[in-house]
Amino acid sequence: MSLIDLTLAQARAGLRAKTFSARDLTAAHLEAITALNPTLNAFITVTPEIALAEAEAADRALAAGTAGPLAGIPLAIKDLFCTEGVRTTAASLMLETFVPPYESTVTAKLRDAGAVFVGKTNLDEFAMGSSNLTSAYGAVTNPWRRAGDDTPLVPGGSSGGSAAAVAARLALGATGTDTGGSIRQPASFCGIVGMKPSYGRCSRYGIIAFASSLDQAGPMARTVEDCAILLGAMAGFDPKDSTSADIPVPDFQAACTRGVKGLRIGVPREYAAPGMPDEIAALWHLGRDILRAAGAEIIDISLPHTEYALPTYYIVAPAEASSNLARYDGVRFGRREDGADLIEMYERTRAKGFGDEVKRRILIGTYVLSAGYYDAYYLRAQKVRSLILGDFTTAFARCDAILTPTAPSAAFAQGEKMDDPIKMYLNDIYTVPASLAGLPAMSVPVGQSQEGLPLGLQMIGRPFDEETVFAVAAEIERAAGFSARPAIRAGVSA
Ligand code: GLN
Repeated sequence: MSLIDLTLAQARAGLRAKTFSARDLTAAHLEAITALNPTLNAFITVTPEIALAEAEAADRALAAGTAGPLAGIPLAIKDLFCTEGVRTTAASLMLETFVPPYESTVTAKLRDAGAVFVGKTNLDEFAMGSSNLTSAYGAVTNPWRRAGDDTPLVPGGSSGGSAAAVAARLALGATGTDTGGSIRQPASFCGIVGMKPSYGRCSRYGIIAFASSLDQAGPMARTVEDCAILLGAMAGFDPKDSTSADIPVPDFQAACTRGVKGLRIGVPREYAAPGMPDEIAALWHLGRDILRAAGAEIIDISLPHTEYALPTYYIVAPAEASSNLARYDGVRFGRREDGADLIEMYERTRAKGFGDEVKRRILIGTYVLSAGYYDAYYLRAQKVRSLILGDFTTAFARCDAILTPTAPSAAFAQGEKMDDPIKMYLNDIYTVPASLAGLPAMSVPVGQSQEGLPLGLQMIGRPFDEETVFAVAAEIERAAGFSARPAIRAGVSA
């Protein structure tokens, strides 16, 4: 088996058994990046020298018996995490030359665990989007293709570069961030696993902010167990993030083997909205059958405010974004365009630095926060957000986890939904409610569309009960046995 086809857990075992070195493992992934990144555009920045130096340090630690839990594991980092000394762009021209003088807590933890960073992955600008088409550094191409059709497809977004890199075997795992679905939807589109932990589980310190009350970092990998291993290293209390939860980090990997016997799995009737494509409905049924056969009880639940989740999100998220993005003023960070006076300098900097989608969100956000509209939109949205959380609290009195589709479709073609922002926003219909409620949620590849593209199911858990989510996800993964490979890797033997 080629080194790039190993799971993270297998690679870790191989490194410990000295079957291969961290240097070999990293070199194999760097070679894959050189071969495929020109086609995929999954990375904005590749850092081969840093990666090889880190791999050699991992080899020394492995030899000395002082290796951390991720020693020598090549990872891709979403270019929204500040990395000390390595350019961090948020896929925006605004931060084209920004080299952070500090490291995000999540990446610092991964480094401390011994991980090797191969580069910074592409995303939608400032993580706003579902397709990676809004990146100022060009679109990411999904490594999958429709059967018999070479049309380039989107990898989903906003963590589309991370998802494409993991699916194409350019890294064993990656970090993503998820504000309304940005880990789960690209995981589904690229046939990999992705988890958005509970809000507060991973520190937001050093992650470029989009919507602070929703943003969460999380792992993306090719198996549920690999995600569990990664989250174990990423999570934990951080005094530098006031919303970080001061609670212990459980053994997520152990949770993957718990099974689902006796668990009650809720199926929300409101998610079965008219218009759900047959293949998505069939996939959802398959998930229920798998869990029932494994000893879980499937129960019908109601989340009555589901239909308001998307409009609520598209008020709250832009409101917070407009406030967070006010810091890009041409003075403190990144880009600066000169002007005759201060106001003109601000205007020119922001006009040049931000792309259309980011400007759209700033306009919407500023509008809903403005005097006169604040009560009608923002305050109302906050109230509805509480109702949505209340729906989940009521449901979790009767069930232990919730099963839904991850996205309403398989990956779509580049440009297919760009004409209409609302169509693009509809992608988030199943992912946004768990974000508004701060709940852990995960996508696992379960089947393929008629066109041969991967489709994922989503599991949602109680606050800080990632363990049950991992248990359910691992059961579905085992039974579904998803083993299809993306077109770009189809010819490579496993
Ligand atoms: N697609 C959603 C949006 O555009 C979610 C993005 C995200 O989770 N970062 O806002």
